[in-house]
Amino acid sequence: MIRENLEKIKKRLALAAAKRGIPVTDITLIAVTKTVPPDAIREAWDLGVTDFGENRVQEALPKIKTFPRGPRWHFIGHLQTNKVKQVLPVFDLIHSVDSLKLARAIQKEGEKLNKRVNVLVQVNIGAEESKFGFSYEEVLPALEEMAGFSALKILGLMGIAPFFPDPEHTRPYFRRLYRLFNDIKVAGAEMKYLSMGMTNDFEVAIEEGANMVRLGTALFGPRDS
Ligand SMILES: *Cc1c(COP(=O)(O)O)cnc(C)c1O
Repeated sequence: MIRENLEKIKKRLALAAAKRGIPVTDITLIAVTKTVPPDAIREAWDLGVTDFGENRVQEALPKIKTFPRGPRWHFIGHLQTNKVKQVLPVFDLIHSVDSLKLARAIQKEGEKLNKRVNVLVQVNIGAEESKFGFSYEEVLPALEEMAGFSALKILGLMGIAPFFPDPEHTRPYFRRLYRLFNDIKVAGAEMKYLSMGMTNDFEVAIEEGANMVRLGTALFGPRDS
């Protein structure tokens, strides 16, 4: 099942990359493993998936422990400041820096560990009450402030589009985030990763400039919870 799903995903990634005119190898597939048991994660790993995403600290830590080394782990959910300490040693990239308060907490903890923490800044691209992230107006001032945080390595932006049954409707949201990403890059800041696109809308996201997609359902099937 996972094998077949992965084959299908790879074909779809290749098509979307071709539409964008980039090599498919430019795109990082992040397998989202929330609610997925370690056996299934291992199966994906054995099939060559190298990057995994989790959104809850409590669920993620015991699972990650069963993998001595190897996979890269991405933290993709809302992170409470009191959990930062647990997250920094195990995750390779935090996609969800959604407030200055969190950025400060990561800075503080990173300094203690003498570690530069790889992060993406989350933008609330649909301006949805239910979602986390900086508003478009807040992003640049926040980036300016975070530029002084020596323990933070800001590598890009992350966004979650509002859900539409027809993914075509997500296109303007992704396009706008890419424009911001590119503007910041042109201005000279390091912007390496643009994390956008999930099962329902990843092809549109890639066509609009994503180079990290976060796929759960497409790989592991529907979640019960
Ligand atoms: C769950 C989740 C995903 C994956 O969602 P699917 O629709 O199952 O692909 C991606 N990003 C975030 C932040 C998530 O919480």
